[in-house]
Amino acid sequence: QVPLKPGRSLMDWIRLTKSGKDLTGLKGRLMQVTEDELAKHNKKEDCWICIRGFVYNVTPYMEYHPGGEDELMKAAGTDGTDLFDQVHRWVNYESMLKECLVGRMAVKPLAAPKAAVLITLLFVGMLPEKKLLHASAKDLTPRKQFSSSLYFWFCSYDWFQTESSVTIVIYTKQKDLNAELVIVDCQDKQLRAEIIMDDHCFLVEVALYHAVEEDVTVNIAEKIGKVQISLKKKANLHWKMLGQPLESHNTFIKHTDRGPFYRKCKLVSKTEVTHDTKLFCLMLPKSTHLCVPTGQHVYLKQIIAGTEVVKPYTPVLPFLPLDFKAPSHCDGAHLYFMIKIYPSGLFTQALDHLQIGDFISVSNPEGNFQKSQAEASEDVFLLAAGTGFTPMVKLLDFTLTAVSCLRTVKLIFFNKTEEDIIWQKQLEQLAQKDARFEVQFILSQPTKAWEGKEGKISSSLLSECVQRSRKDSQVLICICGPAPFTEQGVQYLMDLGYSPEEIHAFTA
Ligand code: FAD
Ligand code: NAP
Repeated sequence: QVPLKPGRSLMDWIRLTKSGKDLTGLKGRLMQVTEDELAKHNKKEDCWICIRGFVYNVTPYMEYHPGGEDELMKAAGTDGTDLFDQVHRWVNYESMLKECLVGRMAVKPLAAPKAAVLITLLFVGMLPEKKLLHASAKDLTPRKQFSSSLYFWFCSYDWFQTESSVTIVIYTKQKDLNAELVIVDCQDKQLRAEIIMDDHCFLVEVALYHAVEEDVTVNIAEKIGKVQISLKKKANLHWKMLGQPLESHNTFIKHTDRGPFYRKCKLVSKTEVTHDTKLFCLMLPKSTHLCVPTGQHVYLKQIIAGTEVVKPYTPVLPFLPLDFKAPSHCDGAHLYFMIKIYPSGLFTQALDHLQIGDFISVSNPEGNFQKSQAEASEDVFLLAAGTGFTPMVKLLDFTLTAVSCLRTVKLIFFNKTEEDIIWQKQLEQLAQKDARFEVQFILSQPTKAWEGKEGKISSSLLSECVQRSRKDSQVLICICGPAPFTEQGVQYLMDLGYSPEEIHAFTA
C-alpha cells in the first residue's frame, strides 16, 4: 500500500464513479479492443488494462489505486489478469471499475484456466473427452440408471433418495479429509460442494430438481475421504434427477482458478474488546458447512454507496481458551472476527453501523499457511502488531493442543499503547497457567506509567526476544501486522540467520 493524496480514498473513487463523469472518454460507447489497440494505451495519462477479457481505461483510477500508480502501470496496455490475480484476486474490480469499461478484447487473450487443466488431463489420457467438455444432465440421474462420471481419477460423486431425503456422496480417496476441507452451501435450490485437495478442489454444483429444507447435514468419513451430504426434501416427491449441472459442476481445478464464492451471514453479536476493536459474531446459514482453517482468512463483502467493497479478515476464537486439552473445533454455526474500527475506515465504519440481525457476505477461506509448518516445531514465536494478533489466536490454540514436540510458544505483541492491547488479561492468565506459553508486550507510544518493554520491531529487539530453547531446536516464527512491520520483521529475522522455511509471514 502507498499513501494516497487527500481526496483519493476508495470513498472518493466511489463518489467519482457515481458523478456521471465520462471516465472512459468514449461517451458510454463500448468497443471491441484488439491487442494492438490495447498496447497503444500504455502511458500514465492514457492507460488501458485487460482483466479476464474485459478492457478498462484505468487512467482516472491511477491516483486512487491503494497499491500506487507504478503497480498499475506494470500492466499498462497489456493483459493484467495474472498480475491482478497474484496481488488481489478477491477485489471486485467489475464493480469498482464498471464506469471505466472500454469493451471486450476482440480475441480472447487467455485460454480459460479450466480448459487448460482439462486439456492436461486429456493429454495424460485420464478422462473421456465428451464428459470433460460437456457435463450432461444425464450425469445427474440416479445411481441405478447411471453411475457418476469420473472427472479425475480419485474424485467422483453419486446420489440416492428416499421418500423424504436426498443424499449426495462424494468419493475422493483422500486420506485425512477433514471438516476444513469440505465446504457445502445450499441456497435457493442450488447445491455447491467443494472438496479441497492440496491446491486443487473438486466441485459438485447443481441446480436441484426440487426444493429442499434449509438444514443440511454433512458427514465426513475421514479415513476413506468420503463426504455424505444429506438434504431434506420440502415435498415428498420422487426426483427423476439430482438437477441441472451448473457451469463448474464436476470439475477439478486449481483452487485459485475458482472465482470467490460468498454466502450471507447474520450478525448476531458485537462486543467491545478494546476502545476501538470489536468482536463480531456472524451466524452461518444452516445450509452452509464451513470451517475456516488455522492461519487462513476470508473476505467480507458489503455494498457501500452502491459499490461492492471487499476486505479480508481473519476469524478468531470467541475467547482465549485457558485449558488447552483438545483443539477448539469450529462449531460450524458461527464465525468470530476481531476487527479494529478506523475513524476514517470505509469498510470498518460500515461494519460498525450494521445492526444485530443484518446480513453480510462471507467468502470461502484463503491463505497459504499450512498447519504442517507448525506440527514439528519445538519453539514457536508469534510476532504480532495490532490486529495482526488475529491469526495468532487459532495458532496458539493449535500449537498448545496439537503439537506434541512443542516446548515453548512466545507471543511478542507490538502495540501503540496499553489500551490497544487485545485480550491482555487473558494472555497474562494463560502465561501463568501454561508454562510453555510466554507473552511479551512491547509498546511504541507508552504512557509514563508503563513498566514493560518499549520500542518498535528491530534487529536488536528480535535477537533478544527470539531465541531457540536449545541449540538446533526446530523453530517456527509467524509474523503479522501492518505490511511494513511484517516486511521489516522478515528481513531482520533473515539477517539474524533464520531460514525462509522457519518464517511464515501473514499477508493478503
Ligand atoms: P480504509 O478505508 O482502507 O482506510 C482508512 C484509514 O484506516 C487509513 O487511512 C488508515 O489510517 C487506516 N487503515 C486502513 N487500513 C489499514 C491497514 N491495513 N493498516 C493500518 N491502517 C489502516 N483487520 C482487522 O481489524 N481484523 C482482522 O482480522 C484483519 N484481518 C486481515 C487479514 C488480511 C489477510 C489482511 C490483508 C488484512 C486484514 N485486516 C484485518 C485489515 C482489513 O482488511 C482492513 O484493511 C481494515 O479493516 C481497514 O479497512 P477500512 O476499509 O475500514 O479502512
Ligand atoms: P497499529 O495499532 O497501527 O500498530 C501496531 C504496532 O505496530 C504499533 O506499535 C505500531 O507502532 C507498529 N507499527 C505500525 N506500523 C509500523 C511500521 N511501518 N513499522 C514498524 N512498526 C509499525 O496496527 P493496526 O492498526 O492494528 O493494524 C494492524 C495491521 O495488521 C493492519 O495493517 C492489518 O491489515 C494487518 N493484518 C494483517 C493480517 C494478515 O495479513 N493476515 C491479519 C490481521 C491484520 P507506531 O507507533 O509506530 O505506529
